[in-house]
Amino acid sequence: MPAQDDLIVIAGAGGFIGGALARYFHNRGCRRIRAVDKKPTAEWYQRIPEAESLCLDLSREADCRRAVDGAAEVYNLAADMGGMGFIERFRIECMRNILINTHLIEAASAAGVKRYFFASSACVYNSALQSDPDVVALKEADAFPAMAERGYGWEKLLSEMFCQEYWAERGLRTAIARLHNVYGPHGSWDGGREKAPAALCRKVIEAVHEHTGRIDIWGDGTPTRSFTYIDDCVAGIDRIMHCDALIATPVNLGSRELVSIDELVSKIERIAGVQLERHFDRSAPTGVAGRNSDNTFIKQVLGWEPSTSLDAGLAATYAWIQTEYSARHPPRSAVRRGAT
Ligand code: NAD
Repeated sequence: MPAQDDLIVIAGAGGFIGGALARYFHNRGCRRIRAVDKKPTAEWYQRIPEAESLCLDLSREADCRRAVDGAAEVYNLAADMGGMGFIERFRIECMRNILINTHLIEAASAAGVKRYFFASSACVYNSALQSDPDVVALKEADAFPAMAERGYGWEKLLSEMFCQEYWAERGLRTAIARLHNVYGPHGSWDGGREKAPAALCRKVIEAVHEHTGRIDIWGDGTPTRSFTYIDDCVAGIDRIMHCDALIATPVNLGSRELVSIDELVSKIERIAGVQLERHFDRSAPTGVAGRNSDNTFIKQVLGWEPSTSLDAGLAATYAWIQTEYSARHPPRSAVRRGAT
């Protein structure tokens, strides 16, 4: 945990993980939180009224200097990103995220910040090691020799290196977590940036609402992944950031509970109490065939790893998306009542 009176800056606080991290620190008594995002504050997933909320474009040097002024800790969760549909289609946007970390870490170093966190990704891992759904879990050394996810993964890998060199050359304590498929309430669930768990929850909710009895699934249902619940993610970020044995050392932050996309759909169907006819879109983007997190290193250093079961995390996520969906699609009878 940061010291109670230290100013902590959360970049990307209008987004899913940044918003949850701001909430997490606020709930634990941090009194000075500066939340920063490019999006207008009205569009943030979560907003902490007691925090200072700033709308800044962190791909700009001057905005980064303003963001970190007086800060003790900086958490970089800002990025233009989304699920596979987004990162395969918008590689330029993903690579341009390099501007955010480059300017933010330089500004943090110049401002004398004590600790700096970077949200890396499991997409840094060599794709050749992920060609089979029956995966061998990825350990930190598997990022090299490098053949990261084109665009998004390479940007993350290079930004990791920036973090390591700012420690080596300038003594800035940096922390680097390789996040594995984070999901949970208060994130993207439609519009094109959502990831598989949220997208599939929405599709099941839609099928129930519209009585279609069917679901469209990207790919053939066989790819495997592990999914990390948001509460584990923010608790892990806190632990990694404040562990001196992990300075400038990339570490996996992910669940080890591996499921296929087909199994993920079945779990969501069970929550909804339905069984849908599955239609597979084999031409849709799906990413690598299989990926899981090897947690040997994080357990060895922190004696901790993410532990929320996928069933529990999905139930909370489904309930939240259901509420959001219902707010946008009130039952017809309610609309009729409202109209008369
Ligand atoms: P998100 O899209 O919900 O949040 C990112 C936020 O960054 C958005 O609110 C966006 O407006 C903001 N942003 C983008 N460009 C900006 C700029 N120039 N200046 C200021 N703010 C800017 O994404 P998320 O899921 O919360 O991801 C947070 C971080 O974690 C990202 O770096 C992402 O690559 C990384 N990550 C996420 C996952 C995951 O499964 N969600 C997995 C691996 C890594």
